[in-house]
Amino acid sequence: MKVLCVLYDDPKNGMPKSYPLANLPKIEVYPDGMTLPSPKGRDFSPGELLGCVSGELGLRKFLEDAGHTLVVTSDKDGTGCQADKEIVDADVVISQPFFPYYLTKERMQSAPNLKMAITAGIGSDHVDLAAAIERKIDVVEVTYCNSRSVAEHIVMMILSLVRDYHNQHQIVNSGGWNIADAVSRSYDVEGMHVGTVAAGRIGIDALRKMKPFDVHLHYFDRHRLPAAVEEELNLTFHETVESMIKICDVVTINCPLHPETEDLFNHEMIGKMKTGAYIINTARGKICNREAIADALKTGKLAGYAGDVWFPQPAPNDHVWRTMPNHGMTPHTSGTSLSAQARYADGVREILECFLEDRAIRDEYLIVKDGALAGMGAHSYSEGSATSGSEEAANYKK
Ligand code: NAD
Repeated sequence: MKVLCVLYDDPKNGMPKSYPLANLPKIEVYPDGMTLPSPKGRDFSPGELLGCVSGELGLRKFLEDAGHTLVVTSDKDGTGCQADKEIVDADVVISQPFFPYYLTKERMQSAPNLKMAITAGIGSDHVDLAAAIERKIDVVEVTYCNSRSVAEHIVMMILSLVRDYHNQHQIVNSGGWNIADAVSRSYDVEGMHVGTVAAGRIGIDALRKMKPFDVHLHYFDRHRLPAAVEEELNLTFHETVESMIKICDVVTINCPLHPETEDLFNHEMIGKMKTGAYIINTARGKICNREAIADALKTGKLAGYAGDVWFPQPAPNDHVWRTMPNHGMTPHTSGTSLSAQARYADGVREILECFLEDRAIRDEYLIVKDGALAGMGAHSYSEGSATSGSEEAANYKK
């Protein structure tokens, strides 16, 4: 069997010789009782870089000892890229949302042996799900592995935007001390209305983490939460996105990208938001319209925008979100902390062990199975493709 694994580049100065922490805290279960990934073996130390090329998700020994071939590359975009050369006889492709190998219909057509696409993380929108369904290529992801990592990032971004941290940090870095400049856009989050578009694993965790700030919590989702959860968090449910965004000061986006959510936050939707609102989008870049966000920041319709997701990825060097005013963007990092990497590397190994031993993969990990949406795919996605335009990723220059 041949496994093609597409990972992000190593650090510019090579792999770290040491890390800030000697150990990671031990986590046994996720909040809903689901167990963490539990492969039979592990060939890495948790806390190491695993998501870059030399990290290899800790898979090489396991696969090669069993007689399989592992090819790892970061050369994934543009005509003639290494990944396109290797996929033609691959049985399994592993890719990460942070640095996605867009598995388009054309790429699937070039890979007659391809049986499974594994997302080392959560969010399989970089795979053309309609084509995977048609070609009976299974799509799986490591559900929950980094949901709570993202929720932490959301809290960080809400606070840093509303309090205007980036500007203040910049003033210090440049030797300044003008406090009036530092606070002229800085507010407390206390008392604000904070709403999430989708209250799945990330959305609900972000709401729980925001509750102690004494804010009013809101959500919109295609699935309503149990009444006990709404009561616990004093949550207001909205039947439509519009009803929620017109009263929220902070909107956090936590739904998957699929045809129902692509371009959801376009000029028209943003026009219906409260003036001076903040958007935090750690879900997927394409859920927000690129120009509409930049325009709204320029006019002041939005007071700030932060997130870590772009389209495509890597974002072209001239992507307008790199330079628009009052943004708090990071590269796609929230779900790939060293803590999260250990979980999704374990999860990928668990999935491969199941695949190789012909054992069932956990239902929660399934997005597409045997030519249909399944598991989390049936709960959270719709059929279709969100990969159009992904060829623009080739425009990024290191
Ligand atoms: P989840 O499956 O637990 O939750 C998804 C929620 O979205 C579900 O409650 C579902 O009902 C809701 N939903 C789907 N389509 C909807 C629609 N059209 N309208 C309203 N609600 C809708 O997944 P999760 O773990 O919470 O992750 C959510 C998404 O966050 C992922 O699919 C991925 O795109 C993104 N994510 C980003 C990172 C990162 O590093 N930035 C990491 C993990 C996940």
